[in-house]
Amino acid sequence: MSKPIVAIVGRPNVGKSTLFNALAGEKISIVKDYPGVTRDRIYADVTWLDNQFTMIDTGGIEPESKDLMLSHMRQQAQIAIDTADVILFIVDVRQGLVDADYKVADMLRKSAKPVILVVNKVDNFDKFMPDVYEFYNLGIGDPVPVSGASRLGIGDMLDEVINHFNKEDLEEVEDERPRIAIVGKPNVGKSSIINKLLGENRVIVSDIAGTTRDAIDTAVTYNEKEYVFIDTAGLRRKSKIKEELERYSIIRTVTAVERADVVLMVIDAVEGVTEQDAKIAGIAHERGKGIIIVVNKWDAIEKNDKTIYEYTRKVQDILAYMPYAEIIFISALTGQRMNKLFDLIEMVIQNQTLRVATGVLNEIMTEATAMQQPPSDKGKRLKLYYITQVAVKPPTFVIFVNDKELMHFSYTRYIENKIRDAFGFKGTSLKFIIRERK
Ligand code: GDP
Ligand code: GDP
Repeated sequence: MSKPIVAIVGRPNVGKSTLFNALAGEKISIVKDYPGVTRDRIYADVTWLDNQFTMIDTGGIEPESKDLMLSHMRQQAQIAIDTADVILFIVDVRQGLVDADYKVADMLRKSAKPVILVVNKVDNFDKFMPDVYEFYNLGIGDPVPVSGASRLGIGDMLDEVINHFNKEDLEEVEDERPRIAIVGKPNVGKSSIINKLLGENRVIVSDIAGTTRDAIDTAVTYNEKEYVFIDTAGLRRKSKIKEELERYSIIRTVTAVERADVVLMVIDAVEGVTEQDAKIAGIAHERGKGIIIVVNKWDAIEKNDKTIYEYTRKVQDILAYMPYAEIIFISALTGQRMNKLFDLIEMVIQNQTLRVATGVLNEIMTEATAMQQPPSDKGKRLKLYYITQVAVKPPTFVIFVNDKELMHFSYTRYIENKIRDAFGFKGTSLKFIIRERK
């Protein structure tokens, strides 16, 4: 089940970043064991009362003039409408209502997406409540007063957010079809790949009716099995500002990846893996999705019989944090190896949902610890008692040990490699949870 997306929309200076940071808390520091991950706080994982969601801040840079502000706000709102399950529309009790607020409220109202009207900077509820009522004029329901800076009212606001997903989840729970997102920088060939895939004889394409969000999804039948392709091209936005374009591109990727089971990460063979590619791949990696690195435009490079091996090594060097990713070299132009893509997608889906019996896992672990003694520190040696798989997508294992501190990353990696030697799990990350048992 993909996590719901909650988007924040609002004018400059209403306190979006402050609120975003208050919500994201410590969790915001995105895992930094791989290069190129954005330090900018565009998205974050939030947990509230056992509910997890991905929050995105659609407001990037500040426009230079009032005229630009409205168009900027419209873009923000449109992105939120395209991608989010719930929208937080933030207004400022101290500035009061301005014209742009009404215009954005109109857009959001027409979208039929759940919108929560959050009135920020209510640092003192007694004093400011009379001013909060003014916001009923926007016609998008009850204003929720908060203070991002003093962290007031945030619990009530999150309760409102969560109320909305419960309904949403029920609708989606029926859909068992694998979802595939094609991501990558502009011009790497994403649209060409999807068009070629959908154009194959053996592929039957049908539009998906339903929620507005699904309007950009395409259902595909291949070998009598249905897949859903998430089209990120549909969310393309025009902007002249480089930072803004990059922000939109990240939001688009995060939201598509979040909903996907398998991510086709497309890179341009001629350009090689760039920093932006590494950033995009990192998003899929940190979300535990199935990953296939698709090196496209393979027709456009000169090669001999070693090129493919050398190229593979180069990609693996740069994307060293995801050695499990499958790599395929294709040409959307000539169709080279395009027919292999579905097989690869199917294999990765199988691996994402593979369950290994507890008995077998424990045999592997016992053998592994006998071959390479677990580390010790200050006379105390790590003991591994028991391993069991608790989840799929991604496959998640719990290992019970005597002392968590002794379980170094490198030893976990060693156990992971032993499991991979036995079962492959190609194309999917594996997650390990270390628990202490006295
Ligand atoms: P953004 O442009 O919407 O991201 O707004 P910021 O989060 O950067 O905040 C704009 C200004 O409002 C900053 O000076 C913040 O310190 C201030 N601010 C943010 N939240 C609150 C709040 O809850 N109460 C008060 N009094 N000021 C706030
Ligand atoms: P997107 O922005 O990632 O969707 O990329 P497009 O599918 O629009 O492709 C960008 C450009 O690359 C277009 O000019 C395509 O014709 C070209 N292109 C796409 N795939 C290939 C390929 O396999 N080989 C070559 N030589 N060009 C390609």
